[in-house]
Amino acid sequence: KPLVVAIDGPSGSGKSSISREAARRLHAAYLDTGAMYRAVTLYCMEAGIDLEDSVAVEAATRNADIELSTSPDAEWVRVSGRDVTDAIREPSVSSSVSAVATTLGARAELVRRQQQMIADSGLRIVAEGRDITTVVAPHAEVRILLTASEEARLRRRGVQLGGTQSAAQLKEQVITRDAKDSTVVNFQQAADGVVTIDSSDLDFEETVQAVLKVVYA
Ligand code: C5P
Repeated sequence: KPLVVAIDGPSGSGKSSISREAARRLHAAYLDTGAMYRAVTLYCMEAGIDLEDSVAVEAATRNADIELSTSPDAEWVRVSGRDVTDAIREPSVSSSVSAVATTLGARAELVRRQQQMIADSGLRIVAEGRDITTVVAPHAEVRILLTASEEARLRRRGVQLGGTQSAAQLKEQVITRDAKDSTVVNFQQAADGVVTIDSSDLDFEETVQAVLKVVYA
């Protein structure tokens, strides 16, 4: 029977690594929707498209040839057939991605593709992002909002980036980005029927267990 697990949360909440591991244990596919916003952003930057021009960004999103792995054991993203798995994590992409995320026409196109990918998974998938519980898969069997304190999120993102970022850069990438993204999607509060898991005081395994507990409840 179908098992779509929708997980939303702010940056640094650990939702990507937690969702990927939950997918492995559930023998389900995994969809990182943030990677799609990042891939479109990189595509626009490389094509010299003005990210403030919403008409151009929407058109570019429709034209962008993006492929990404839906296996939790293989992480890769391609734009126009080229591997961009690492390139989409560069700070230059992180600091520009909100421009794509706040372009409503771009969102509509990516939501459509994400819904297609969920259908193509045979409806056995863990999908994570900012609007999965509310827009992409509001009828998912399991809907979770994964939160963490600001302190925990800044610390985790710092570790993830290998301690190479200054405190100001981290704030820019976590707090400022979330504030911009929040203007178009609500991932700060759980929508009706969405279970909140606060991972501030949980380690990785405890958080995975908390997610699985909601799945099996
Ligand atoms: O999850 P990640 O930090 O990689 O997401 C990158 C960006 O993609 C977010 O900051 C947000 O702007 C956008 N995003 C979104 N909706 C989603 C997933 C990501 O707007 N479902």
